[in-house]
Amino acid sequence: MLPEFLDSVVQLITRTSTDLPPDVRAAMGLALTSEAPATRAGQALTIIAQNIDQAAGCDGPICQDTGMPTFEVKVPVGANQIWMKRQIRDAVAEATRRGKLRPNSVDSITGENSGNNLGPGTPIVHFEQWERDAIEVKLILKGGGCENTNAQYALPVELDHLGRADRSLEGVRKCILHAVWKAQGKGCAPGAVGVCVGGDRTSGYLHAKEQLFRTLDDVNPDPRLAAIEDAVMDQANRLTVGPMGFGGQTSLIGCKIGALNRLPASFFVSIAYDCWAFRRLGVTLDAASGAITSWLYREGVTPSVPMLTPEQAAAGFPRTGREIRLQAPITDEQVRSLKVGDVVLVSGRMFTGRDQVHHHLMHHEPPVDLRGAVLYHCGPVVVKEGEDRWRVTAAGPTTSIREEPYQAEILERYGVRVVIGKGGMGPKTLAGLKASGAVYLNAVGGAAQFYARCIDRVAGVSLLQFGTPEAMWHLDVTEFPAIVTMDAHGNSLHKEIEAESGEKLEAVRASL
Ligand code: SF4
Repeated sequence: MLPEFLDSVVQLITRTSTDLPPDVRAAMGLALTSEAPATRAGQALTIIAQNIDQAAGCDGPICQDTGMPTFEVKVPVGANQIWMKRQIRDAVAEATRRGKLRPNSVDSITGENSGNNLGPGTPIVHFEQWERDAIEVKLILKGGGCENTNAQYALPVELDHLGRADRSLEGVRKCILHAVWKAQGKGCAPGAVGVCVGGDRTSGYLHAKEQLFRTLDDVNPDPRLAAIEDAVMDQANRLTVGPMGFGGQTSLIGCKIGALNRLPASFFVSIAYDCWAFRRLGVTLDAASGAITSWLYREGVTPSVPMLTPEQAAAGFPRTGREIRLQAPITDEQVRSLKVGDVVLVSGRMFTGRDQVHHHLMHHEPPVDLRGAVLYHCGPVVVKEGEDRWRVTAAGPTTSIREEPYQAEILERYGVRVVIGKGGMGPKTLAGLKASGAVYLNAVGGAAQFYARCIDRVAGVSLLQFGTPEAMWHLDVTEFPAIVTMDAHGNSLHKEIEAESGEKLEAVRASL
């Protein structure tokens, strides 16, 4: 068998999780230069750029959500795919053990985390034979926040702000623009979309995800699709959804469209949305040894070119002097003095809580006193360093909207004053913030390395039976930066940006 195959796949997973490819770096670099540094968008993009460099510098995950590992493997005729699949699974378990992948595979019935990213359907491995004497392995790590913003349209369909999307390329373009608008900051914009025109519901989504294996700067060989890709890039970036949905010039860094034949009765447009943490890489392997002979997508760019100059990196988070310091536990008075748009620096103890914690708190008393507390929607990557000693290696925010059914009640029952997450929350939480005297802070999604460096120590953990991402971690932090996007007076930046970008969508429609 191929003695180096397993190690090569571990290397591929490690580099994919920790080092963004040059085309994505170039697109994010362009986004960074298009925003003024002291704006919300500029600050978010600077944090993202720092995060990208920090991850590559320490071989740590770029984002704490290391996603669903999806492998596309091309093999010579006669290669043993059964053996290779076992090796890929072993490599995934090993990369998880090394903290390059977060344990992300959960039993859908019991909710139990397998702990090693293995389970029915995880990882996803697709094989294809080709007539070359080499093996090609491509990998994409696409997280849950952006996966949840995928969209599928059955044409013809009526769309908000855009009217009817017919069974035509015009209709396809409208669907893509609608999906980008709908995503707002929930998928950690600026993102990229892979699109499939046609197919059935299943093959459409698969082909859409496959488009994400194209480089952001390639040109579609089909001139009709190339024209739509160009038009979408121009029009989507006129919506000013902006980085993290904060408003700004860059909402989309790539649009890649493919097409499959369809049944006459069906016309699906399937859209796979990927976030700025667009982790996609590949290797070519020697068919006899399994050793890496070349890296795909990197073409001589090894090591990676940093996003920031040493001076910019040393300057850290770009401050304006108007930042507000908050020390937990936080009072009603402090919270009510905050308003949408304020940049805050949080210090003191915060508690993580995501889906399982929120569900638990609806039926049980909290394991800690949450009066005046900061609740962080985060599923960190945590490494055990001894008996009761833990270290967080990646800790960005998770998508908050999933907690919408619970959040207002938890604020009211337990006295939480600050919720930190990303992508914003809905009307029920907005009303709950006002009634209970609390605020919602938007941290920069995916900035897992940046935020891990704000954590001084792990002071404890509760509810560890839910697995590391879902447990309630007690984190002592210093100057954790975030933006007030929903305040205690009924204001929501998310609502504002959605309405403003909706008007821009109507302007795009009028210009067609
Ligand atoms: S950057 Fe955001 S959407 Fe992407 S994987 Fe991380 S948390 Fe999820």
